[in-house]
Amino acid sequence: MTSGILTSSGIKAPGDYIEDVMISVKAKNPAEPEFHQAVREVFDSLRLVLAKHPEYQSNRILDRIVEPERVLMFRVPWLDDQGGVQVNRGFRIEMNSAIGPYKGGLRFHPSVNLGILKFLAFEQVFKNSLTTLPMGGGKGGSDFDPKGKSDNEVMRLCQSFMTELQRHIGPNTDVPAGDIGVGGREIGYLFGQYKRLRNEFTGVLTGKGLNWGGSLIRPEATGYGCVYFADEMLKSRKDSLDGKLCLVSGSGNVSQYTVEKLLDLGAKPVTVSDSNGVIYDPDGIDREKLAYVLELKNVRRARIRDYADRYKKAIFMPTDVKLEHSPLWNIKADCAFPSATQNEITAKDAANLLKNGVKLVAEGANMPSTLEATKLFLDAKILYGPAKAANAGGVATSGLEMSQNSARISWTREEVDDKLHKIMISIHRNCYETAEKYGTSGNLVNGANIAGFMKVADAMLDQGLV
Ligand code: NDP
Repeated sequence: MTSGILTSSGIKAPGDYIEDVMISVKAKNPAEPEFHQAVREVFDSLRLVLAKHPEYQSNRILDRIVEPERVLMFRVPWLDDQGGVQVNRGFRIEMNSAIGPYKGGLRFHPSVNLGILKFLAFEQVFKNSLTTLPMGGGKGGSDFDPKGKSDNEVMRLCQSFMTELQRHIGPNTDVPAGDIGVGGREIGYLFGQYKRLRNEFTGVLTGKGLNWGGSLIRPEATGYGCVYFADEMLKSRKDSLDGKLCLVSGSGNVSQYTVEKLLDLGAKPVTVSDSNGVIYDPDGIDREKLAYVLELKNVRRARIRDYADRYKKAIFMPTDVKLEHSPLWNIKADCAFPSATQNEITAKDAANLLKNGVKLVAEGANMPSTLEATKLFLDAKILYGPAKAANAGGVATSGLEMSQNSARISWTREEVDDKLHKIMISIHRNCYETAEKYGTSGNLVNGANIAGFMKVADAMLDQGLV
């Protein structure tokens, strides 16, 4: 445990300090492996920083940054269409507000629990710091499963969820957005209930509809931003996306707009997936097929398997839970864009990707690669864009939505896209230069973790022991 291990002059070597805090994180947050994994990944990069900046250690910044400022957990009761009582659990982790109001999405998925949300909230702190915008980090959600639920059931769940959450959030306090299972429909129901209970029309959520305070390009932003980031990585090696064969996982918000931007930049995406299986389309997913995927997933809310019924050359490979790898990552390609969920790329998947000659991995999903997979990518020195940098375009554009709401103005599509693009270029440059400065040239994991951490840690030092 960390208590008593330090004096104000810092008696421990940085490596020992990190290991002590890591032990404490595991002891205080048992059975939360995803949270441990996210902390471990950041801490591994911070060894380089603590050696140069003993003030972070003497002020116990690591002990403080792993501890959420506030954790909310609450009952979410709702009535199903048969009049039966259903009870879910709601959460909001307010992780760190050193550089701005808490900001981060809400996830509705049966796998949601405290550990998953703590990992996401922890990642969010550093990601938001990298965006150049003034946003702290938070994350929330529910173990509610939207699959197979009617619109009315989703609305009742959202209303019940917001009836409690509204006490804790606000445009200058905590501004949630969407994530897995929370898209435009859910944000609408959540916003409606907030407005009704608080009697105020304010930018308390992002990802809103265009007629009621939303920003152009917000739905596209995570996918577009991830591809802009990939483009910057390739430019650093005098290469481009033009003609590249690309693997994309998932078929939700991030995947859809990753595929679209890949097409804009001349690449050839050949896969999409959902939790039931993988579609491989050797002819490529063109704009007409992408429009079909959007209709299938966003309107009919059906399974990706249907794609292979419509496009006969496409192959559907069902998910086999007994396998510890996915056939998606064993298809020969130049670039990979994991855009579904955490730990979807195992060590075996990473080995398959490398064996097949993949040159670039850009993470649209949060923490899609296990620690072992990440190590394989870094050792192979391929272009590897970690999630907290590569997928920061979504929250950055949420930040732009907040600015437009505060100023009561709306920027054009071109204006928002241009700002998003510039932010992604700046995040890449910041990560690249920071990696170089700390003697690990090309390692964007170190670059992202160190640059994201230092801005938050310095703000914490400035603000005293709070
Ligand atoms: P969506 O709900 O729109 O889509 C998620 C996709 O991933 C679906 O195709 C879903 O399949 C699949 N998926 C989810 N869980 C699993 C699982 N356990 N196993 C296999 N497939 C799964 O979510 P988003 O596109 O918004 O989010 C995708 C990822 O991107 C997440 O990691 C999220 O945290 C991250 N992200 C999202 C941002 C955003 O702006 N939306 C911003 C930054 C990161 P199925 O339909 O079968 O569940």
